Amino acid sequence: EVLFMDQCIFCKIANHEIPSNFLYEDDICVAFLDLSQTTYGHTLVVPKAHVKNILESDDLLTAHLFKVTNQLAKQICTALNANGCNILSNANEVAGQTVMHFHIHIIPRYKNNDAFNITFPNHEGQYDLDELVTKIKHPL
Ligand code: 5GP
Ligand code: ZN
Repeated sequence: EVLFMDQCIFCKIANHEIPSNFLYEDDICVAFLDLSQTTYGHTLVVPKAHVKNILESDDLLTAHLFKVTNQLAKQICTALNANGCNILSNANEVAGQTVMHFHIHIIPRYKNNDAFNITFPNHEGQYDLDELVTKIKHPL
């Protein structure tokens, strides 16, 4: 899919071409409330540049986004009396990415049934972990 500059929904939000509920802005990124409010205070940290996802991002940009995420997560959890949070970034359709412009979710968590759930299946013993390290560190 070819995207011209300023064409995607998050490009438009980051450039103030369509309104949003902004919590933060600097030269590199913005943060605004996610419309879905999966949990109360659900926020997105989004680069101003159109980068597809973390797999297409350089480490300096990603480092900046996580620096802002770090500050905002604390600010949001404190302000809203959240008991914790999940920090999540979906990359590509297979991982559930629906907006193809890099974003980091800040999802505050609340003790009383906040209707958000992540399951980590346990496949312990199913893979050769030494082989796995070799595969990743020394790809063919
Ligand atoms: P993804 O599934 O790609 O990781 O997350 C995309 C997120 O963007 C979803 O949580 C969705 O609710 C949010 N979203 C999509 N369109 C808009 C929009 O126009 N404004 C805001 N604030 N959030 C949006
Ligand atoms: Zn974009």
